[in-house]
Amino acid sequence: MLKDQDRIFTNLYGMQDRSLKGARARGAWDGTADLIAKGRDWIVSEMKTSGLRGRGGAGFPTGLKWSFMPKESDGRPAYLVVNADESEPGTCKDREIMRHDPHTLIEGCLIASFAMNAHACYIYIRGEYIREREALQAAIDEAYDAGLLGKNAAKSGWDFYLYLHHGAGAYICGEETALLESLEGRKGMPRMKPPFPAGAGLYGCPTTVNNVESIAVVPTILRRGGAWFAGFGRPNNAGTKIFAISGHVNRPCVVEEAMSITFEELIDTHCGGIRGGWDNLKAVIPGGSSVPCIRGEHMREAIMDFDYLRDQKSGLGTAAVIVMDKSTDIIKAIWRLSKFYKHESCGQCTPCREGTGWMMRVMDRLVRGEAGLEEIDMLWDVSKQVEGHTICALGDAAAWPIQGLIRNFRDEIEDRIRAQMKGRTPAMAAE
Ligand code: SF4
Repeated sequence: MLKDQDRIFTNLYGMQDRSLKGARARGAWDGTADLIAKGRDWIVSEMKTSGLRGRGGAGFPTGLKWSFMPKESDGRPAYLVVNADESEPGTCKDREIMRHDPHTLIEGCLIASFAMNAHACYIYIRGEYIREREALQAAIDEAYDAGLLGKNAAKSGWDFYLYLHHGAGAYICGEETALLESLEGRKGMPRMKPPFPAGAGLYGCPTTVNNVESIAVVPTILRRGGAWFAGFGRPNNAGTKIFAISGHVNRPCVVEEAMSITFEELIDTHCGGIRGGWDNLKAVIPGGSSVPCIRGEHMREAIMDFDYLRDQKSGLGTAAVIVMDKSTDIIKAIWRLSKFYKHESCGQCTPCREGTGWMMRVMDRLVRGEAGLEEIDMLWDVSKQVEGHTICALGDAAAWPIQGLIRNFRDEIEDRIRAQMKGRTPAMAAE
């Protein structure tokens, strides 16, 4: 279990003062100018040493991402954009940072922007996060008033301006290029890549888009050293991580833990165990709704990190752990996700626009058992035609939960179809 002195987010539950005064008492904004004085190369190198992988879901190494930004400006400004559009079902970790520990993020924005030669940073927060936006804006205002933002920010010699932009509630705006489109005032539709944002991002200028948690951990990593952060978790899966556990556990919670903790320890230590005991565990979606589910009996010893869960044909994603016990109609649960992705598809590429609707309609019939057995393989094939054939990852996100269902619970789908053929299935109409 992570020791209290190793927690980066010391006010995750909002039990203490979240204002600048309170944040300073907990160590925020301590020696920020000294960290900046050590220079860009030192900051990027410490971030690489830390082994931090992006906390938004993809797990790309953060220090490496920063190093893609041009070292010298060609006349264009550079930007840092923070993705606070936390919209993946089950995911609710960044909101705790923004509403309870906002200065970790604001200080991180200054340091990260300096490291990438950016004088301006935009935080794009999801439309539904109204109280979070208010808390974060109040903290930004405080930081401006205290001279921590603006000209000569925190007496570092670096001029830095931070803006908070409120989205309108579209899931797709969490995709980094759709987010940039939306920030520029257009419809949130993903762009083709290349060019990548580091070459041509916001307003056609070099841009890095990072998740809230990835930026908020930066000040502590630099103060305590990249090697300290790298000391948690298995190699290539370093650091502490905020997990958000929901569903059929006795006490759902958001908690910062060491990476590579086992699922059993995570649930028993922080959530009071599985509802009805471990034998009652049916399935787990370990990383937010887009990753495939895993059968309960395979989860007990599971290691909660990027590499282990990828090897199980799932993923750590945003570390939003959705737990389902044996009372769950797993087919209906996955159908609900299909409906979500169909609704959120921006519609600009055909496999996603048509495929998400097609998959949802088949799932709709599978819930009731009103399908032929051969349609299970057909659904699998269609999901494979969507996966990897679209402009952005929403196509994959729609395909993977269905693939996870077929891989792990094919017997249950078949049983329902057979029962329906014999007229024994109770009406389980999808709502
Ligand atoms: Fe839009 Fe879907 Fe294509 Fe992404 S995959 S660009 S959401 S249609």
